[in-house]
Amino acid sequence: MRSRLIQDTSTLEPTWREWLAALAPPTRALDAWLGRDDRLLIIAPHPDDEVLACGGLLFDHHARGGRSLIVAVTDGEASHAPSAQWDAVALAHRRNVERLAGLRALGLDAPDVVRLGLPDGRAADPRTRLTERLLALMAPTDVVVATWRLDGHPDHDAAGSAAAQASAVHGCRLIEAPVWMWHWAEPDDPRIPWHRLHALELGVPAVAHKRAALSAHVTQLTARDAGRGPVLDGAIIARALRGAEYFFV
Ligand SMILES: [Zn+2]
Repeated sequence: MRSRLIQDTSTLEPTWREWLAALAPPTRALDAWLGRDDRLLIIAPHPDDEVLACGGLLFDHHARGGRSLIVAVTDGEASHAPSAQWDAVALAHRRNVERLAGLRALGLDAPDVVRLGLPDGRAADPRTRLTERLLALMAPTDVVVATWRLDGHPDHDAAGSAAAQASAVHGCRLIEAPVWMWHWAEPDDPRIPWHRLHALELGVPAVAHKRAALSAHVTQLTARDAGRGPVLDGAIIARALRGAEYFFV
């Protein structure tokens, strides 16, 4: 069994497709995830996580006139560090532009984004007061989507844990999205609560808009300096373009 640490090798998409077909997690229609009048509150540790975690859900909810708020936990300024190509301030600025372009590609003409500006890689530091900040932004009627609290990246875990605490205080429904889990886990992995996994099937337009949204994240799709490949590799892109999104409930 591999560790939860994010390493270079990952479980490839054909393996996951075969496993998911055999597992056949229960499918819920959009209305069962959230009502048209519910606000979808997405807690995204880095720019692009709102697409990777739940871009299809966001597209479908918005297409029927639903409201959303994206809480941008960090601006993802550490994705290239150390880098001679990008300093942190310039990269944070660029990634915020990419985030907005990605959200527009999902159909949000005027995306509602709150940037918390927490340090990328250190969102779990208690001094960030992430739970308190989420408490202040959340309303009891929100349906909250956050990265899974055991996703295996410190910022994703921090966002998931803080979202769980704040949702419990407000009594919000919480949906947890695995993102990095698909990288380090394996089919039938005993560390994964497979019985809690449910699916939202996506139509062709949702997948197409997700593809367009992901392509807005140019800094993540191009090779980094010092011979490092792009952050979003082929396996991640293939997962993002599945005909379904999967969440823990
Ligand atoms: Zn992330």
